[in-house]
Formats: sequence, structure tokens, C-alpha cells
Amino acid sequence: MSKYDVITLSQELIKRQSITPNDASCQQLLAQLLSDAGFQIEHKRFGEVDNLFAWHGQDSENSKSFLFAGHTDVVPTGDKFAWKHPPFSAIVDDDYLYGRGSADMKSAVAAFTLAMIDFVKKNPRHQGKIALLVTSDEEGPATEGIKKMMPYIAKKHKFDFCLVGEPSSSEKLGDVVRIGRRGSLHVEITIHGKQGHVAYPQNAKNPVFLAAPFIQELSQFSWDDGNDDFPPTSFQISSVTTSSNTSNIIPADMVINANYRYSPESSKQSLEQQIKHLLNKHSLDYSLAWNLSGLPFYSQSTYLHQAISKSIDEICHIKPQFNTAGGTSDGRFIAQYGVDVVELGVINKTIHQINECVLTKDIINLEKVYQKIIVRVL
Ligand SMILES: [Zn+2]
Repeated sequence: MSKYDVITLSQELIKRQSITPNDASCQQLLAQLLSDAGFQIEHKRFGEVDNLFAWHGQDSENSKSFLFAGHTDVVPTGDKFAWKHPPFSAIVDDDYLYGRGSADMKSAVAAFTLAMIDFVKKNPRHQGKIALLVTSDEEGPATEGIKKMMPYIAKKHKFDFCLVGEPSSSEKLGDVVRIGRRGSLHVEITIHGKQGHVAYPQNAKNPVFLAAPFIQELSQFSWDDGNDDFPPTSFQISSVTTSSNTSNIIPADMVINANYRYSPESSKQSLEQQIKHLLNKHSLDYSLAWNLSGLPFYSQSTYLHQAISKSIDEICHIKPQFNTAGGTSDGRFIAQYGVDVVELGVINKTIHQINECVLTKDIINLEKVYQKIIVRVL
């Protein structure tokens, strides 16, 4: 037996003040436990960010490989004195474990680490591969973490499935499993006019007036219809500026910043085509600059969904709802490698808040759910 159970390991992780990008040796502790259990360990540091990859077993043609992914970093505490218990004290009070990172997501990291160790102890010659990937850069820019680890790992390892331990549950443990996220695409649209004196508009072209019908059409445009699991793509303008900052000049240019949250029914290419079509239809002179911040991902493996659904039902006695709500997550970087990615973790009600906490019973049950999922998947 490990010297930790899932509660004491969660507490040990919470006490390490790992505000992004500082890992505060959380990963050292996990690596020690995993290596004691026979896992192979690789530490990888990019910039200021620590990353840990650990694995056990081998890929083969007729077996599965399963990755748990998550993060050891946490968001800042906010006003420390507003907390019921100091944010890194990891105190259990009235059946709740309190602390920054208790829900997002150190209790899940503790639960999947111990579930993996338990599985390997019981099945030292198991089929397939089981692995863990954690970073200390999820809550920050997320550029030196999973995003850089995946291309590195993918050279030697291939994964069929990945479970990200982000807090997906809403009211009860296991009530929601995320099976995808919308993509996020930023576009900067510059409408070119002709600068001039406001008193002589006949010699100028005001880009704001030129763009007005186009903006009107954008506000009602339907990019796609979504599908059973995704709402239709949404397009929102976040800012509109012009190149003029005085009151007597008609500006040369107008710049519109906008963001798409898009379903897998659209792609960067299709959205680009659609917006060019609209701009041309309104005879605008324009330029576009794109920034793709997250591809959509979408888990479609009924094999994995059933394994999860049955495991949750056995431990929590509820049927989970599978959905694609929420913002972006590190899952987007993993799904790009052909991995079927889902997210399952504790209740997310208090994440990033003062007095972040989790029911200790939920942490214990989450470990049991993970154990059952591993057995079913491998
Ligand atoms: Zn998180």
C-alpha cells in the first residue's frame, strides 16, 4: 500500500503552493509514487513550466492505451483572509476538503494517480499501456505544457483514449461527462476606406459607413446548425476601432475584432470562406488576420462512453449526461493526435473561488470510478 490514501494525497498536493507556472514539487511527489509502483518516468521542463509523463505497459495491436491528463498548477487565492480556512492548509471541515486546487484539480490528480497505481499492483502484466501526463501550465498561457508535451510524447507513444480530470460534474459527482469542446477562432477584420477631412466627405470614403450593412448582416448570419452534441457556431464582435482619433478626420481604416466559438460542423476554412463571401458581397476592400486558439474536439467512442457510464452508475448510482459545454481545456491539444478525449472530475461549483472545496466522499468515489474505468478500458 502506498503511504497515502486519496484524501491525504490530495491534502499533500494542496499544501504545495503551486500557482501557475510554479509546480512546487507536486510532480516530484507523484513521480516518486509512480516510480515506486514500477512506472517509467519522464520529467520535462519547458521555460518555467514543469511537465511529468509516466507510463506502464506497452502498445500492441490488439490492446488499448489509456492516458490520464491534468494539471498541478492552481489559480491565485484572491484575498487569503476571506477564506474560511487558509487556502493552502488543506483542512477537512464538515466533510469538505478546503483549499486552492481542491476541486481544480488536485483531488482528481490524486485520484487518478492512485487508481493507476492500484491497477498496476493488481495487474502487473496487464495488456496495453496506462499513462499519466500532468503540467503546471494549464491555468496560465498554456503554451509550455500539454501543447508542447504532446508532439514530444507522440513520437514514441500512441494513445487510443484520454481522460482529463477537469471538474466536469455539476450537482452530483459523475452527473456530467464532457465529450468535446467548441473551437475558438479569433479574426481581425480591417475595412479600408479613404481618409479625408470631415467637411469634405466627397473626397473620402468612410469605412464605418461602408461596413455598416456588412455588420448588420453578420449579426444575423447563420454559420452552421450545430449538431446533436454541439450548439450552432457563434460569432461575436468584441471591439471596433478606427485609425482616426480626432474629430475632423474621416478614418482610413476600421478594425473589427471578433471571435468564433465553433462547432465541428465548421472549420477555419469554411468560416474564412463564408466571411470572405460576405465581405465581397458588400463590395468591401478588406484584409483579414486569423488566430486559431483552439480546435474543436469531439469524442465519439461509444466503447469509452459505455465504460465510463457503467463505472459511474456502479459507484454513484446515476447515469451521466454527456455534453460539450464549457470553455477551452488542455483536451484540445491531445485530441489533435487522434486520441478520443473525455473529461470527468469532481463538482465544479467552487472552482477559482474563495473557499474552493470538495466533498471528501466525492474524492473517494472518484478514485473508485477511475479504477473501474481503467479495468474496463484496458
Ligand atoms: Zn483545471
